[in-house]
Amino acid sequence: MPDYDVAIVGAGPAGAATALRLARAGTRVLLLERSHFERPRVGESLAPEVTPLLRELGVEPPATQPSYGVRSHWGGTGSSSTLTNPHGTGWYVDRAAFDRRLAESAAAAGAELRLDTACRGVAGATSWTLTLSAGATTTARALVDATGRAARLGRHLGADRLAFDRLVAVTAFVPATDPGGFGLVETVPAGWCYSAPAGGGHLVAMLLTDADLGRTGSLTAPEEWRAALGPHTTARLGDVPIPELRTISAASQRLHRPPPTGTAAPGPTWLAVGDAALAQDPITGTGVVRALRSAKTAADVLLGTDPHRFAAYETALDQECTTYLHRRLAFYAAETRWPEAPFWQRRLRTLSARRTSA
Ligand SMILES: Cc1cc2nc3c(=O)[nH]c(=O)nc-3n(C[C@H](O)[C@H](O)[C@H](O)COP(=O)(O)OP(=O)(O)OC[C@H]3O[C@@H](n4cnc5c(N)ncnc54)[C@H](O)[C@@H]3O)c2cc1C
Repeated sequence: MPDYDVAIVGAGPAGAATALRLARAGTRVLLLERSHFERPRVGESLAPEVTPLLRELGVEPPATQPSYGVRSHWGGTGSSSTLTNPHGTGWYVDRAAFDRRLAESAAAAGAELRLDTACRGVAGATSWTLTLSAGATTTARALVDATGRAARLGRHLGADRLAFDRLVAVTAFVPATDPGGFGLVETVPAGWCYSAPAGGGHLVAMLLTDADLGRTGSLTAPEEWRAALGPHTTARLGDVPIPELRTISAASQRLHRPPPTGTAAPGPTWLAVGDAALAQDPITGTGVVRALRSAKTAADVLLGTDPHRFAAYETALDQECTTYLHRRLAFYAAETRWPEAPFWQRRLRTLSARRTSA
């Protein structure tokens, strides 16, 4: 008999919430996380819809700085607000602390949480054998890839990562005596800028551009990065020194599983959840909401008995991806000030994807 019913690799919001739901249903769950949430993480703005999703998990919403909305300079002027949202305000959190708290809630519900433990490989015929960072192995009946945009396990198991763009976020966490209580978005020829309070008296500021444009424009160097920011972001940062910049993938992508061919037995079950399954542009501002929602769907699939449920799960994700891509197009079409800039030209081309192995 395998050591666990389900092994979940990655304890971000999607993996932790899936583990929590499964553990509560009496499943023997292993939740692996390669870090101990020691580094600052992006994704600090929680949309108001997070509140009911956390309550459903039995987790109290964070008692941190409320978020009243985003000031946006996109397509000229304009702003949006969450004040009218039926769920009230959103929240600005220290994302690493938020993720750690969710993982600990999964452990409190009965999942076995192992921090500082990466999954290095998986193999299986009737159940999965996972090779862990210290060279140890363990076994599980089903496997969940919750490794985020990297989709490490899914790719290892032969799925294709279809990337729809090469968006990256060149990011700085800077100390701020007054980080303000709002998110700020503004477009620039090279892409767009975002800044928001990130907990602990820090402000996160990023320039979102394409990986190749970032390289050719040296936008990962502090001086060039600062020069590429828009006037509102520049004014917000003031003359604070820019520390080392981190370049983080923000690409839109879908993990595509080719249908089984031939007569070979399909092998033990696995699925991807959260960003590993479908990662969207951060302009949507709903990554954590989607991660928590997808955890609910994934847990239902893993606990279910309908033989078609895994195929139905993939079909629903394909449909969600199509809807999202049209929404993304509408977002970018609203900015018309830089028709000659490659970043903006690319955003308005017909939808197309490329397979990535990196
Ligand atoms: C620049 C940027 C800004 C964003 N801003 C926001 C925002 O303000 N609000 C919002 O709601 N969303 C935001 N998002 C999106 C949001 O962060 C993601 O949608 C969300 O984190 C997805 O959760 P996840 O659990 O699927 O993946 P992740 O949060 O990426 O978690 C994956 C986990 O897997 C672990 N892991 C990876 N490989 C292994 C391995 N081999 N073994 C063990 N563990 C492993 C990682 O350490 C990590 O903890 C942003 C995204 C980007 C790129």
